[in-house]
Amino acid sequence: MEEIHIQTNSTEETMEIAKRIGEVIPPGTVLVLEGDLGAGKTTFTKGLAVGLGIKRVVNSPTFTIIKEYLGRLPLYHMDVYRLENREEELGFEEYFESDGITVVEWASNIKEQLPSSYIACTIHRIDEDTREIVVQSVGGENIDWIKEIIRNDNSISNGHV
Ligand code: ADP
Ligand code: MG
Repeated sequence: MEEIHIQTNSTEETMEIAKRIGEVIPPGTVLVLEGDLGAGKTTFTKGLAVGLGIKRVVNSPTFTIIKEYLGRLPLYHMDVYRLENREEELGFEEYFESDGITVVEWASNIKEQLPSSYIACTIHRIDEDTREIVVQSVGGENIDWIKEIIRNDNSISNGHV
């Protein structure tokens, strides 16, 4: 599987890389965010939203499952943490198949309903301010454009592809 590793050393650095991704992310992309509580999934989504030109502040949608924001493209921010061990169909494919950007936190809870290809970002907490972000292409999803962002940006520390 194709993989990109990025290390960030602060909240702002994670926001910045996510913003750059949001600036060029292709319509219809599904982005799955994995990582423990406090890893930085919502922080990453906030940066992505800035890159999409969204003015509203993005907060964790834990109690609503899906929040929608409008920018250059719509952003559908899902947190399916509370759907553990539930089988019901909630119509996720409508979002996945749209031209908007769908971000899914705790996607392992809806594994069966995920599309055949997507980008998975796993955030590992190294210490208080350091995170390792592993970007993976699942099902043949193109991630070359993310490699380009890393290559062309000197402010991103320790990015390697
Ligand atoms: P999650 O959604 O994964 O539960 P949050 O994004 O809500 O996590 O919280 C991450 C916390 O870690 C925030 O308080 C953030 O400021 C802090 N943090 C510290 N360093 C980083 C970093 N390098 N990247 C992302 N978040 C960081
Ligand atoms: Mg969160």
